[in-house]
Amino acid sequence: MGTEILLSGVVYTARDAAHQRLVHALDSGKKLPFDIAGQTLYYAGPSPARPGRIIGSAGPTTSQRMDSYTPRLLAAGLRAMIGKGARSQEVKEAIKRYKAVYLVTIGGAGALLAGAIRRAEVIAYEDLGAEAVWRLEIESFPAIVANDIYGGDLFEQGKRKYRLDRNEGGRQMECVFCQIIAGKISSETVYQDEKTVAFRDIHPRAPTHLLIVPRKHIPTLAHVSEADSSIVAHMVNVANQLARSEGIAEKGYRVVINCGQEGGQLVPHLHMHLLGGRQLTGLLG
Ligand code: 5GP
Ligand code: ZN
Repeated sequence: MGTEILLSGVVYTARDAAHQRLVHALDSGKKLPFDIAGQTLYYAGPSPARPGRIIGSAGPTTSQRMDSYTPRLLAAGLRAMIGKGARSQEVKEAIKRYKAVYLVTIGGAGALLAGAIRRAEVIAYEDLGAEAVWRLEIESFPAIVANDIYGGDLFEQGKRKYRLDRNEGGRQMECVFCQIIAGKISSETVYQDEKTVAFRDIHPRAPTHLLIVPRKHIPTLAHVSEADSSIVAHMVNVANQLARSEGIAEKGYRVVINCGQEGGQLVPHLHMHLLGGRQLTGLLG
């Protein structure tokens, strides 16, 4: 799954109207206009060739429109399909059951695809015009495996990756503390372990002013889930340890977590301030 391949050989084009007729023929026990066993369907309706050309444009159509007919054709021996976009659950299961494969073509490559067609002729349902069934001989036709017999799904995987990019990587790209953790913005790091990083505040408000930050991007204290609460306990341990190494443990120090706008939080990545080295004034707020 995800494998890029170059196809050579014979494929038959069929869009919705042709699918409907093929399935109707099967249901009424009629012979199909071509032997579908072991064959490949390309979900396309090629446009007629201009003089001197083999074929007009021959890009794929959205495969979803074929979904309701596909399990029936797979049962009749169809083994491969080429199209555009994700398939239904029923189709994916039928692909596994009948050991077939669904390929997607490379988007926006209509000219490239047409260039990979060596011979083209209408073989059935000519009255359907653009939706007639063509027999195409292709050579080095580029495609990507989207669904295979192992149940792999390029689209599900793509969605997961996109979600990760957006939520993890995407946010990390913007978050100043994530960038400090990644070493993309320099800071005076005083401590780090597998869960946390501590560095000096760029605008210190006391002789010792450290920020203790979880490596995991958690926006605010309010976003700490039950499962993540041990991170906060760990931050307290790190603060106590740093207070000792900073020499402020004896005289006393303050740890502060600002949460949200009215809490005075400016950087939306959970952090604990460790302040000390002078008499701190003011009670809460
Ligand atoms: P908050 O107001 O969100 O509780 O605290 C954010 C703290 O991060 C502020 O004290 C601010 O000075 C500090 N800070 C903001 N940007 C940077 C930076 O790029 N490097 C370091 N070391 N501290 C920063
Ligand atoms: Zn972050």
